[in-house]
Amino acid sequence: MQEDVPGYTVAQAVEEARRCLNCPKPLCRAGCPIENEIPQFNQALAQGNFGEAYKIISKKSNLPAICGRVCPHENQCEGHCVMAKAGKGIKIGRIERFIADFYSENQLSSEKLVPKTKGKVAVIGSGPAGLTVAGDLARKGYNVVVYEGEAEPGGVLLYGIPDFRLPKEVVRREVKNIEALGVTFICNTMVGKDITIDKMFEEGFDAVFIGTGTAIAKGLNLPGEKLKGVIQSSYLLRMTRLFLDGNVGRDEVPVEEGDEVIVIGAGNVAMDACRTANLMKAKKITDCYRKSIEFMRASKAEYESAVKDGAEFKWEHVPLEILGEDGKVTGLKVSTPEGEKVIPANKILLAVGSKPAARVITSTNGIDTDESGYVVTQQKPYGMTTKKGVFAGGDVVHKPATVVLAMKEAKKVAQGISDYIEARKLLGI
Ligand code: FAD
Repeated sequence: MQEDVPGYTVAQAVEEARRCLNCPKPLCRAGCPIENEIPQFNQALAQGNFGEAYKIISKKSNLPAICGRVCPHENQCEGHCVMAKAGKGIKIGRIERFIADFYSENQLSSEKLVPKTKGKVAVIGSGPAGLTVAGDLARKGYNVVVYEGEAEPGGVLLYGIPDFRLPKEVVRREVKNIEALGVTFICNTMVGKDITIDKMFEEGFDAVFIGTGTAIAKGLNLPGEKLKGVIQSSYLLRMTRLFLDGNVGRDEVPVEEGDEVIVIGAGNVAMDACRTANLMKAKKITDCYRKSIEFMRASKAEYESAVKDGAEFKWEHVPLEILGEDGKVTGLKVSTPEGEKVIPANKILLAVGSKPAARVITSTNGIDTDESGYVVTQQKPYGMTTKKGVFAGGDVVHKPATVVLAMKEAKKVAQGISDYIEARKLLGI
């Protein structure tokens, strides 16, 4: 499938990097949650030193080809660029993407493997948080095994974000780069069912990291929510992914040609649901959001793409009831500033948030969560849960956010895990 935004050619990338002013106090770096050395990699690229540019990025990020595509750059690095105000900001995301793609596609060099002598760490989940912890700890000399419930590593990157924004071969390439650091992936293994944290410690792991994200999609508890045709957007995205990979038939995708679809929500997931419904040839796509556009959580670029794909947005439309006939959806009753009205539809796609599943936590003792199921962690060692040696990070701790925020936290937790294992060694435990 064609990517929305085409990649830079070598000439375009070098030209764009040359525009960087190399500011002494780079605001772009301050705007990046993981403080990527943006001017440094721009300078390396501008001088034609592609390998060096990649090396600079990979000091801070294990997933540059992904961040280059899905980070909300307009609010982060690019939004902070000193030239942004004049509308001439450097396209940092596209440069980052170019450097990462060029490195992987051309296998520029291979990183020297660090001997795995420092200890053994199990990572549960292979989304951005798990992949970051795995990559950082492997680079520090830890033997890392990642347990993933799905058939392939990647988490939301693989089964959530659609191909037109993040092609799956890009995710697979990034995972391969992490594998090349000496990380082992064990897929089709649901922790809490196929193996437990206690068993991992019995098997000799020094620490365990939980990076299981938020797998349970939330509902709205609206009257009519049980009607046939009310679907979680995450389910549509997952089934579309499986269909496009040839793993399920078209009839398993819950949006059919000619459907009239209402999407409820205005975050990343809602925009991807609108666009995927369009891809699946829905006749009409209406997005209802209870607040005004200023409160939309999706980025402007994603919203504009959804509009371009034909989605019609209805702001300040509060869902009241899902209407139906013979057990099937016929429309959505909403409250609007003008009063109540009914929007006809035969499919309602919910995109109103998600929360953590309890499987991992309930299959062992001593890991506290808050009242919504998010794992409680501490500052020292950073990211440790209430169970000794068990750490957590990413969406399962800080609530659904962004790829780069999951990575930022995971980097700090990787350091916390390393500090914990080192301290135990010093204490002779
Ligand atoms: P996840 O990515 O959810 O990974 C968790 C992993 O744990 C999964 O692989 C899961 O299979 C595995 N797992 C769960 N339970 C178990 C178990 N018991 N045993 C073994 N494995 C288990 N963010 C952006 O920055 N930009 C975007 O454009 C963007 N778009 C998005 C679009 C969609 C549709 C969605 C759903 C999210 C989007 N996000 C986006 C948010 C971003 O993807 C998440 O914040 C991020 O993936 C969280 O990372 P994580 O590693 O904490 O969890």
